[in-house]
Amino acid sequence: MKSTYIMYIMNVLKGVSAAPGIAIGRIYLYLDENYKVPRYDVKLADLPGEMRRYRAAVQKASEEIDALKVEAAKRNLDKESGFLDAHMLMLSDPEFDKQIEKNLNKYLKNIEWILFITVKKFISALESTEDLYLRERSVDMYDVAKRVFNHLMFKDRTALPDLKMQVVLVSNDLLPSDTLMMRKDKVKGIALNGGGKTSHTAILARAFQIPAVLGLSTITDYARSGDRIIVDGNRGLVIVDPDKDTLKKYRMLRDQWTKYELSLKQQNKLPCVTKDGEHIHLHANIEMPEEIDSVIEEHADEVGLFRSEFIFMQNDFVPTEDEQFEAYTKVLKAMKNLGSVAIRTIDVGGDKLIPGLDVIEERNPLLGWRSIRFCMEHKDILRTQLRALLRASVFGKLRIMFPMISGVGELNALYEILNEVKDDLKRKKIPYDKNIPVGIMIEVPSAAVTSDILAKKVDFFSIGTNDLTQYTIAVDRGNEKVAYLYDPFHPAVLRMIKTVIENANKANIPVGLCGELAGEPRAAAVLLGLGLKHFSMAANSIAEVKKVIREIRMDEAEELAEKVLKLESADEINKLVKKWMEERIEYTE
Ligand code: PEP
Ligand code: MG
Repeated sequence: MKSTYIMYIMNVLKGVSAAPGIAIGRIYLYLDENYKVPRYDVKLADLPGEMRRYRAAVQKASEEIDALKVEAAKRNLDKESGFLDAHMLMLSDPEFDKQIEKNLNKYLKNIEWILFITVKKFISALESTEDLYLRERSVDMYDVAKRVFNHLMFKDRTALPDLKMQVVLVSNDLLPSDTLMMRKDKVKGIALNGGGKTSHTAILARAFQIPAVLGLSTITDYARSGDRIIVDGNRGLVIVDPDKDTLKKYRMLRDQWTKYELSLKQQNKLPCVTKDGEHIHLHANIEMPEEIDSVIEEHADEVGLFRSEFIFMQNDFVPTEDEQFEAYTKVLKAMKNLGSVAIRTIDVGGDKLIPGLDVIEERNPLLGWRSIRFCMEHKDILRTQLRALLRASVFGKLRIMFPMISGVGELNALYEILNEVKDDLKRKKIPYDKNIPVGIMIEVPSAAVTSDILAKKVDFFSIGTNDLTQYTIAVDRGNEKVAYLYDPFHPAVLRMIKTVIENANKANIPVGLCGELAGEPRAAAVLLGLGLKHFSMAANSIAEVKKVIREIRMDEAEELAEKVLKLESADEINKLVKKWMEERIEYTE
């Protein structure tokens, strides 16, 4: 099906580079049941195979209906389950089978698509009759076809935690919880139709060091389980069914990349200082306590963001206070002699749905009942988390960080709850650190603009550019359709970053940046120039960002930032920064 030159061109897809590295492997197409019908060309020689697939799926569907009939009989539901006989008749209808074969020969498309168009025609014929009985049969027709379709599409579906072979995962989209629960050692690469660079699936792929390209829109139309695929996370490219030369070239690129990574690792003990001696702090972002080993390996000086909601996502129930205490303590103890750990209270909602929490479906989830807004209504969950955090605080240097703050009101309410929890512990003589710094994430434009007010009320700021970009430009960070607009180099975002840093400096509180921008080597000079001294990123980005920072002089960076702030668009800024960086430094895009 993909042997012509034209098809090869079509099989190179450009997406968003979400996690670096190069993966070469076999596709595992993981589709959910809401997935649209795939449509691709098949050759004449493939037709018997497609027909065999169809008949096998029909056979499976018949067996399923038989089993349902047996079950119904056991429960004395023969009368109610009479429709199953009609379903059986439809499955064995020779006329339908003939029509499928005819359409397959006529359209030369995959069998799923042929089934879809054939059923559609049958259903519209049924729906247009005067006969009520026949009209109502269209529902049955749909039901039967769906049963067959599911067998065609999902016949080899393995749950992600049960993967047995090494694969490259191709899907329409993956929930952060899917990504968290999949067998990481079996997934060599990820290629998705949906998602953007700062979606939580992308963040997890980086944390797990799995090369990933997202936002491909149509990858599932080209990919078939078992076919070979290349995922080039460095350039944001995916190649399905590569030819020999491409494969050879990519094996070389993969080896070069491995060597480059190794050379970076060898320098990771060097201090993070600019060329002119300014010390810059590099912190790590983590999602799970297990990541702490790589934080230490990469010589991060602090944990700048622990996304605590991920420990809520790994089970089907909300973790107890003791389970949370254990997770926080593990990280605090590991970092005790190194640096502090900023643990963010749960940021649920949006794309992060947690089993067991009554997070509702909303029309605008990203603008809705998310994060602190959810916690303020579920104070019990927040109190439990704060108690676990306070109890853990004696084992290391804890900082508590509240996400999604939009104004002073929320902050005051949170302090009230925090103080109640502290008082309760005091009464019960349970020890906790009395000097835990409390800070907030600046990720909502209203917080950025009023950061002068907020700075007086907290001990530190951490700028969350993933959300700040999303909310400033009004562009969903996980939606590939609008990904072209999502750019933290938008002048509005950069101006806000500058304002927040200035306001933090005026109030004499530390300010860091923990969005994905901090881990992008290309952004290091601009951020330094804007006055940023604390960068927090995926642990495995530290080595390269450090290498880049060590090649920059502060006066040059400030000059660059000044020029950047005078430009009118993200495009102009990207061009200038790219040129500036390329003239001076070797780095990965
Ligand atoms: C951010 O919004 O920049 C951030 C770090 O938080 P998250 O990516 O978890 O939303
Ligand atoms: Mg955020």
